[in-house]
Amino acid sequence: MIRFRGHHLICLHFFRGEGYNPEFIINLHELIKKVEYGEIIEVSEGADDVCAKCPYLKGNKCFHNRNSEDEIRQMDSKALELLNTEPGAKLNWLKIKETLPDIFKDWFTSYCTICTWESTCDKNPLWLKLNTERLDNKVSRRESMHDKKAG
Ligand code: SF4
Repeated sequence: MIRFRGHHLICLHFFRGEGYNPEFIINLHELIKKVEYGEIIEVSEGADDVCAKCPYLKGNKCFHNRNSEDEIRQMDSKALELLNTEPGAKLNWLKIKETLPDIFKDWFTSYCTICTWESTCDKNPLWLKLNTERLDNKVSRRESMHDKKAG
């Protein structure tokens, strides 16, 4: 069983082979391969199997910057809320992937716009597709509002 924390349940769908160091990247590749092949994911509260190889993890806490532990936990909470799940739940990676179109707009607005990895994710085909759909929905909503006013 693989342990993933909240925001990894979303963000890792857009992994493009980049990370903090070779050990971290190799671990990520292996974890993603396993969950893509159907290994069950247990939702972790706090540090998970990705964090285990992160150079910023000290004593189970994130020291990427002064506020990172709190910020990441908030990010996890938002991800769990959007995915309608909780720590301890057992999930399937492909099932999570199916829900991404429904939650991407909210996730993008809450986090992608302020994320240092956005310039990496925006080269991932799935991220690009979801973002294009988000923008298309915005345009079509604007057009239908315009139609209503014109009518
Ligand atoms: S841009 Fe950042 S918050 Fe958005 S999916 Fe990528 S890693 Fe996650």
